[in-house]
Amino acid sequence: MSLPRIAVIGTGGTIGSLGRGPFDIADYASLGKVMDAEQLLAYWPQVREVADVVAVKYSAIASTAIGPAQWLELVSLCDRLVAEDPSLSGIVITHGTATLEETAYFLSLTVKVEVPVVVVGAQRPSSGLSSDAGMNLANACRVAGDPRARGLGALVMMNDEIHAAREVTKTSTSRLQTFRSPDFGCLGHVDADAIAWYRRPLRKLGRETEFDVRGMSSLPRVDIVYCYAGADSAAVDAFLAAGADGLVSAGFAPSFVTPAMAERMIAAMSGGTPIAASTRAGSGRMFYTTRMREAGFVNADNLNPQKARILLMLGLTRTRDREELNRIFAQY
Ligand code: ASP
Repeated sequence: MSLPRIAVIGTGGTIGSLGRGPFDIADYASLGKVMDAEQLLAYWPQVREVADVVAVKYSAIASTAIGPAQWLELVSLCDRLVAEDPSLSGIVITHGTATLEETAYFLSLTVKVEVPVVVVGAQRPSSGLSSDAGMNLANACRVAGDPRARGLGALVMMNDEIHAAREVTKTSTSRLQTFRSPDFGCLGHVDADAIAWYRRPLRKLGRETEFDVRGMSSLPRVDIVYCYAGADSAAVDAFLAAGADGLVSAGFAPSFVTPAMAERMIAAMSGGTPIAASTRAGSGRMFYTTRMREAGFVNADNLNPQKARILLMLGLTRTRDREELNRIFAQY
């Protein structure tokens, strides 16, 4: 049986990193040795046993340096790869774990290619003892080559688990099982003998969404205001002064902020700046109470603040109307 043809786009991150030795699993970044896609696939030749891989050089950087500009480029790159190679079965993007969930959620809402897109990282550098890099890379290629992964937006494959981009989040600095989907769990497992799928996301994804970022060179600016006991309005003022088109409130669970923040946010919303209310809880739907609705907040549902920011950025490419933004948050 012929192997699925998978394009592997390398962006950098721990998965592509090399440390000083087998036990350098924390300080390797200071060495600055990061492999590009070609080097990574040469380091892990075993991956060729599960897929006919094509290396696509993109970058070799930490994901702390990845943001909207790279997200837009990755959407175009996926389009180009599929247009240039109709035999492609899927795309894997290797990525640092710091912003992996953000890139994955952005891509899951915006990629229009039909083939699966799977984002993968590692908790230990490729050179680390018991590194998860090689197995994660191979398993991501297997998922990208699985026709059942089509139509699910961008997926995250880490630690033998397949996660929906909307739900997954990094929950631990160093544990191998860091990527979790709170409240819902993973979509399936990548086992030795088979890829076992158990459920599908219900929200609109990829080709079904109204977001078409192709041709865009920038996105609306949305900042996140983190709430804490005694917080004043300084952060809101600073983000507005920096030109924020919208804000996300990372409020106390279940959704409220301090009186000083609330007052400034209500003034900003009356002045036309949309603010999506999310929470710092890490799981659960925010409470869209009468007070929150009347204050003018957008309901960020159960999205964590960094995901709510992405959806608000995309929502603002379509509308600034609060009810329309509420519709968007309910749909995606
Ligand atoms: N610093 C790394 C990054 O690029 C962390 C990782 O990949 O796990 O996000």
